Amino acid sequence: MDEMFDVAIVGAGPAGIAAACVLADGGAKVVVLERGEYPGAKNMFGGVLYGHDLKQIIPDYVQKNCPIERNIVESRIFYLSEDAGMSFAYRDQVFFEQNRNNAFTVGRAKFDRWFADRAAAKGALIVCSTVVTDLLRDDAGRVIGVKTDRAEGDLRAKVVLLADGVNSPLAAKTGFRSEVGPANVALAVKELIEIPEEVIGERFGVSQGNGVTTEILGTVTLGMNGVAFLYTNRNSVSIGIGANLAGLARQKASPYEMLESLKSHPMIAPLIKDGKPKEYLAHWLPEGGYHTVPQLCGDGFLIAGDSAMLFNTLHREGSNLAMTSGRLAAETLLEAMAKNDFSSLGLQGYVNRMQESYVLKDLKKYRKFPSFLETHKELFTSLPRVQSAAVRQMLIVNGVPKKAKQREAWKAIRRQVSPLRLLRLVWDAWRSVR
Ligand SMILES: Cc1cc2nc3c(=O)[nH]c(=O)nc-3n(C[C@H](O)[C@H](O)[C@H](O)COP(=O)(O)OP(=O)(O)OC[C@H]3O[C@@H](n4cnc5c(N)ncnc54)[C@H](O)[C@@H]3O)c2cc1C
Repeated sequence: MDEMFDVAIVGAGPAGIAAACVLADGGAKVVVLERGEYPGAKNMFGGVLYGHDLKQIIPDYVQKNCPIERNIVESRIFYLSEDAGMSFAYRDQVFFEQNRNNAFTVGRAKFDRWFADRAAAKGALIVCSTVVTDLLRDDAGRVIGVKTDRAEGDLRAKVVLLADGVNSPLAAKTGFRSEVGPANVALAVKELIEIPEEVIGERFGVSQGNGVTTEILGTVTLGMNGVAFLYTNRNSVSIGIGANLAGLARQKASPYEMLESLKSHPMIAPLIKDGKPKEYLAHWLPEGGYHTVPQLCGDGFLIAGDSAMLFNTLHREGSNLAMTSGRLAAETLLEAMAKNDFSSLGLQGYVNRMQESYVLKDLKKYRKFPSFLETHKELFTSLPRVQSAAVRQMLIVNGVPKKAKQREAWKAIRRQVSPLRLLRLVWDAWRSVR
């Protein structure tokens, strides 16, 4: 711990390791401090990783045996009421050719370890079982390293990259980000259910190596702003559900009960039938969007990934934003090292790069989306119910003329959601994603 590093990175998740790879490639002396016993030990996510972002850090990730579970060839959306549901699916021949879609499932315990091994092979030092407890500052307030829970204590570095995830008290200590409030995060739970590889193939209609993602919306989140998912791995599926933390607290709802109820839904139960539960995990997600992204750098430090609240709620993308922000932070740091300027001004290149990248452009585009979901609870209550009732009536052949059925369906919809409210919903939806 007496050693002086060029860069100390807090967190060996996708953001921290992406930065470590680029920095080590550039010849920087870099250390990554990770609280888990090994990278990925404490991490979980739904499961979809994006090759485009990974390729810019490890171009030959497929040849380097990246632990890919399944290449995603079909994306489904389920819109569910309590006892029924609609499904939309998109499958594309282009996605069958490996690496054309560049979306695939991974398990974090395997992927994070593999990714960290790549960084170590490039020369980064990965130190596990080490919690960073605070930032070290000089008399002028500049960050000059980190304090850890190790007996050896402090570690000095020219600059610190915070990549410690959504629940980052360190980012809050910079003064740039407040402690995460319940309105800006979702709490999600996930279960890994073991199912034989060939059974997954039959149930989801895919051959070996190919997989399906399903995003699930509707009453499953008990009227709260939230989403569920079902992703295929090689010989397991990941099923999870999450809702806004403030909503969960208000309704005193239990994510575990939501998950159990989801698993018994008629659209879901057949897909996980006879599966063996293997793992149960819970995690927060930053869902506040663009308005909650903090100032990204200060004197002697930068913030990347979930720690900087980089998550695209609409497209459920986070790991790619983390990897790209880590990479852009590292590119800026290599420039700063050449100029020996680690001041806030010297690190501004990171902000510029982020503004030019899809990361902040996408978050800005969807900046109204989080509040759209929060203010249109009918999406999670009455709408899925009336939609199911209307479709059910139209599909039951019982001698009632279709015109009469249509009239009844409209009446039922209007009883639940006024035409004005429906118009408002469509208008607000358009404004939140245009
Ligand atoms: C339920 C769920 C489903 C998701 N699904 C997807 C998906 O399908 N696709 C997708 O792209 N994204 C998904 N995400 C989002 C994605 O997981 C995150 O955006 C991504 O992991 C962020 O990476 P990160 O490196 O910034 O943070 P993290 O992955 O959280 O890594 C932070 C690391 O820092 C370590 N750490 C924290 N504090 C300290 C400390 N004080 N000292 C030392 N180490 C510390 C942690 O142990 C961890 O290893 C999902 C998230 C959740 C919760």
